[in-house]
This record gives sequence, C-alpha cells and structure tokens, in this order.
Amino acid sequence: MADAAAPKTAAAPAKSAPQKALEKLGLRRDIDLALHLPLRYEDETRLVPVAALRDGAAAQVEGVVSECRVLQRPRRQLVVTLHDGQAALTLRFLHFYPSQQKAWALGRRLRVRGEVRGGFLGLEMVHPAVRIVEPGEPLPTALTPVYPTSAQLPQAYLRKAVASGLARADLAELLPPGLAPPGLMPLREALQFLHHPPPEAGSETLEDRAHPAWQRLKFDELLAQQLSQLQARRAREAQRAPSFAAPAGGLPERLLAALPFGLTAAQRRVGEEIAADLARARPMQRLLQGDVGAGKTVVAALAAAVVIEAGWQCALMAPTEILAEQHLRKLVGWLEPLGVRVAWLSGSRKGRTRREMLEQVASGAAALVVGTHAVIQEQVVFARLGLAVIDEQHRFGVQQRLALRAKLADAPGPARDGPPLEPHTLMMSATPIPRTLAMTLFADLDISTIDELPPGRTPVVTKLFADSRRDAVVARIRDEVAQGRQVYWVCPLIDESETLDLQNATATHQQLCEALPGVLVGLLHGRMPAAEKAAVMSLFAGGQMAVLVATTVIEVGVDVPNASLMVVEHAERFGLSQLHQLRGRVGRGAQASVCVLLYGSPLSDAAKARLKAMLETHDGFEIARRDLEIRGPGEFLGARQSGAPLLRFADLTLDEALVRQARAVAGRLLAEHPQLAERQVARWLGARAEYLKA
Ligand code: ADP
Ligand code: MG
Repeated sequence: MADAAAPKTAAAPAKSAPQKALEKLGLRRDIDLALHLPLRYEDETRLVPVAALRDGAAAQVEGVVSECRVLQRPRRQLVVTLHDGQAALTLRFLHFYPSQQKAWALGRRLRVRGEVRGGFLGLEMVHPAVRIVEPGEPLPTALTPVYPTSAQLPQAYLRKAVASGLARADLAELLPPGLAPPGLMPLREALQFLHHPPPEAGSETLEDRAHPAWQRLKFDELLAQQLSQLQARRAREAQRAPSFAAPAGGLPERLLAALPFGLTAAQRRVGEEIAADLARARPMQRLLQGDVGAGKTVVAALAAAVVIEAGWQCALMAPTEILAEQHLRKLVGWLEPLGVRVAWLSGSRKGRTRREMLEQVASGAAALVVGTHAVIQEQVVFARLGLAVIDEQHRFGVQQRLALRAKLADAPGPARDGPPLEPHTLMMSATPIPRTLAMTLFADLDISTIDELPPGRTPVVTKLFADSRRDAVVARIRDEVAQGRQVYWVCPLIDESETLDLQNATATHQQLCEALPGVLVGLLHGRMPAAEKAAVMSLFAGGQMAVLVATTVIEVGVDVPNASLMVVEHAERFGLSQLHQLRGRVGRGAQASVCVLLYGSPLSDAAKARLKAMLETHDGFEIARRDLEIRGPGEFLGARQSGAPLLRFADLTLDEALVRQARAVAGRLLAEHPQLAERQVARWLGARAEYLKA
C-alpha cells in the first residue's frame, strides 16, 4: 500500500476523445505520427474559375457569397450562391446547422472543394468542403494528405497532429554513409515528400510504391525488423542450455532399431541438424518444416530420445486434443517398450489422475509429457525440462505462444554453476514458410526442412465436383468402403459460427447414414466432450468406422493410413493451406488416394485461384507461395500475428530484393554501430519490439 504521506501522483489532465483515438491507433510518439502515412491526397493547391468548371470533375473554387437562403421545397435545404467575379456557382446543403447559415453570410469569402454537377440552376456542388478565407489568403503549396483514421478522430485534428509530429520527430540519419545502400533517399526527405508532396507529383507516382520515397520507408522498416530478429538471436545465444550427446547404443539407437521403417534421407539429415543443436550448450530454437505426411513425428521422437537418454524431460504439445492423443498413442507405442514413462496432460483431464500426472512431471518420473496447451498451464512444474516440442506451431494462438515462452523461461533446469539452463525448443509445421518470410518474420529461427516423402506413397489425385453432384461422390464412397478403405468428409466453418458449422456437419452425417446403410458413419466436431471425440477417433483409427464426417477439427496432423478418400464440402470456403492440409490426411498408405473438392457456386476469384492451385500442384512450398500471393502473410504468421500488421509498408511478395539488402545492412549495423541499431529498432518498433521477439 502507498504511504499516505507520499505525494500522490498529480492527476494527469483528462485526455480528449481525439487524443484517446490517436493512442488507439498506436500514434503515441512523434515518430509514430511521422510514420503514419496518407492513404491518398487532395489537390487544394489550385483554384478553378467557375466559368471553367466541368460537370463531374472535382475542383476547388473561391468566391464571395452573393446569396444564402433556406429553401423549403422540394425539401428543406440551405442554398448558397458563390460568385467569383465572373460566374456563379450554387452550393447545396441538405443537412446543415443554423450556425453554418450564419457563418456563410452575404459578402463572406469561401473556398470550397467538391464535385461539380450540372444542376437545374446551372452548375452546383452538393455538400462541398467549405472554408472561410481572407482575401488573398495563400493556397497550400503541397497536396493535402488524407490519413487513415477512425470515427473518433477528425481528419483535420489528425493532420495537425501528424504535421507537428513530423516537425518534432527525431529523423536523424541512422545509417552511416558506408552502410546505406546507394541511392537511398534521406529519411526526412522521403517523409516530407510522402506527407506533403508537391502538386506535380501525380497520384500514380504517389501510389507506386517503387518511388524512392517509398523504397526508403520500406527499407527502414525491414531493417528495423531484421535488427530486432538479430537481437533476439543474440540474446538467445547468450543463454545456456543443457547439452546432450547421443551415446552409441542409447535410447535413440534402440528406438530407430524398433521402428517398422527406415528413415528417409531427409529425415536423417534433419535429425542430424537437430542432434547438433542439442549437443550445444545453447538453447535450440528450430523450426522443422515438412509437408503433410513427411514424417516429422518420428524425428521429434528421436530428439526426445536423446534428451531422455541423458535423464532430462521432454514436453510435446499439439494444438488440438485429437492430435495430442494421436501423438500419445504413437509415442507410447514407440517409447514405452523401451522403458520410457509417458505422461498425458490435457484440459479435459481433471481430478486425481491429473494430480498424479502433475506429480510425475514434477518428480521427473515421467520423462515424456504429451498434451495440449494444458502442458503450459501454471500448475505444471517440470523437474528438468530439456526439450519442448511444439507441433503445428502456427496453430497456437498468440497468447498460448507467449505463455509457452514465459513457461519455458521459468522452467530452467538445475545447473551446477552459473545461470540456470534453458530448455531447447523444436517447433514443427506442415505449412512451409516461403523464402521471404523465412528471411524476415522467422529470421530468428533456424529452419530444417524435410523435402521428401516416405517411399511408396502414391500421389493423391484431386478432383473438383460441383455440389450438385453429391450423389456421384456418395457412390464413390460406397466403392471405397466396399474395398475396405476409409473416408473422411469434411464440412466447413460457416461464418465462424459454431452453431451453423455443427448443423451443417450434422445434416451431412444424417444424409450419409441414410445413403450408406450398413456402414458405420461417425461424426466428429469441436463441441463434443473430449472423451466422445477420443472414442470416435479411436474407432476410425482402428478401422471399425469406415466414414468420418468432421468439421475442421481433423485438419492438422491426423494420421490414419488406411483412409483413401477425402471429401471436402464447400471447398471454396477453405483457405489454400487448409485445403492442402486436408488433402494430406489421405495418401498416407500405399493405395491410390483421391481428394474430392465439392464446391458451391458462384465462385469468387480468390476461391477459383485456390481451387486451381489445388488441381495444379501437390508441392507444399508452391502452395505456400501461392497462398502468400492470394492472401498475404497472415496465414503463415499464425502465432506471430497480432492485431496490427507487422509490416506496414513492405510487401513480402514484392520486396524480396529489399529484404536481402536490409538483411545485409542489419548484420553490419549491429556489429559495427550497436547504438545506431538500437535507435533504429526503437524508432520503428517502439512498444511492439518486445512482442516481435515473442
Ligand atoms: P507429419 O510430418 O505430417 O507429421 P507423420 O509424422 O504423422 O507426418 O507421419 C506420417 C506417416 O508416415 C506416419 O504413419 C508415420 O509413421 C509414417 N512414416 C514416417 N516416416 C516414415 C518412413 N521413413 N517410412 C515410412 N513411413 C514413415
Ligand atoms: Mg504431424
């Protein structure tokens, strides 16, 4: 409690609504305002004589009020006649205040901007922007910026705020001459140009982000981003982690020997990359990417074995309970025969069993802990966590990722001397990250790629069917089931509404039950109790259930090799990466598999582009590239995505060359001028810098 005698903090002056709105837009510091760039511009630098006005054109006119009156018919309106010495223009206001009528009195000089219309009484403007001016008042010499704003923040207020922010902001050049790429426009000049362009800079020049002023801003933004990533990497490299070497004949070797298959060359290669990280006394921060079905789980299991062999613990987290359970089954099958104790933690597990599990984790009796994000809940304490594996990392939300980070940071293992030891982290994802993203938003990670599928897989054949041909699809299901194969039928999320989503899946389930007598058709959706979900999933995994109707809960990771047909209903509503993931649920065994995309009409252009991509390619990288093209980087960021876009100006699909330049400069700036690097990051990222490191 505060000491009563201590001076109270002086009551801060109450903030006005526009001030609050500014803060809400993240415009707190002068530099934030200076970097808030216009959406478009208005040309107020010229006056057009009334006699030269043309119907349909926007123009600015100045003149003296020669008449101002309220008409009652055809409806109540204020009509002002403006005369510029040669001709008259009618201004018409259907909504107006008495104060306006008073202000625009006879003889007042007005400067008005608006669209000209050929009205009944000659030329007129309806609701023009009006300003009262003194005779001879100078015209602006630059285009007038129109800024992105919100309802609570009037454009005029924002303009003033930005202008003063721009005037006050520290725009000192932070790039020493030797480091700046040639031809880089000075920052102050670039900002001045973009906020207040000369009238002759046409709208094309301004909108074309290839203009040197835009290039400068994009470069700086990318540079700040690269620097913050490098800093995060440095900070991590200064930390200590337990180092693990895999001894000959140890658990990893025994696991390999017990597997029913041999590793692919790609699996062996990434396995070695991970082993090399684990052998170092610095925390690994590696992303393992590989297309759906490439076999990432076994690579994670081998990494876990290395850690467990050394007497440390490994935690494996999956974004859904279904997926976590599947991992549990697989890992228990592989590792328990070798004497490894596996604990299971999920949100639905409560009471005594949960307490027992927590005790085993805390005592170290459980060497491997599998679960959902329940693994990172507060009550979970590890005896000595050596490795955290996060499957389908992009599926975890921002909060979960931050919580995980915090958890790992305070789950350090015992160290004999010096600071405590941080655990290693291995993230896995089937959504490959396009190159530009890998170089930017993921630059703080090391990346390993499995670029080869296990042998004997036949590529999935993809077919497009109009929704009206459902009967043909049902016939196909019947065939498939008759041959002892299994089928998924996935229903979309409609309008983000779980209720509708459910209706849809339930209705389809009903239809299929009726159309396929004697076939066990199951239903799986997000709202079912966990135990029921697990029961359905295990019936399907065990082969007793032939057809599974599901919502997107099965999207990631589910592995049932005997399934050979995937039907996606309303495929046009799914994202491209999602479709690719779904298709990846089949084609996991030796038999030929089919993915049927049912679509409803009409198709939007983006939906057409997605379905076309699905027909044309199976390559996860190509899919990822096209997805980036169709809808921007959001999908890949997953956990990294915040409300605000992380890059405001640079476009990762277009600016690869700038990314490369920024990368090169970032390394040198940080090494040779660390203080300048620090200022560059603060300038651009401000309060967001912390977040980006998360
Ligand atoms: P993903 O990379 O999508 O997570 P999984 O780890 O689920 O893929 O593996 C897909 C399937 O392939 C599993 O049934 C797994 O046991 C099997 N698998 C993994 N590696 C190999 C391999 N080298 N040879 C044959 N099958 C493999
Ligand atoms: Mg997987």
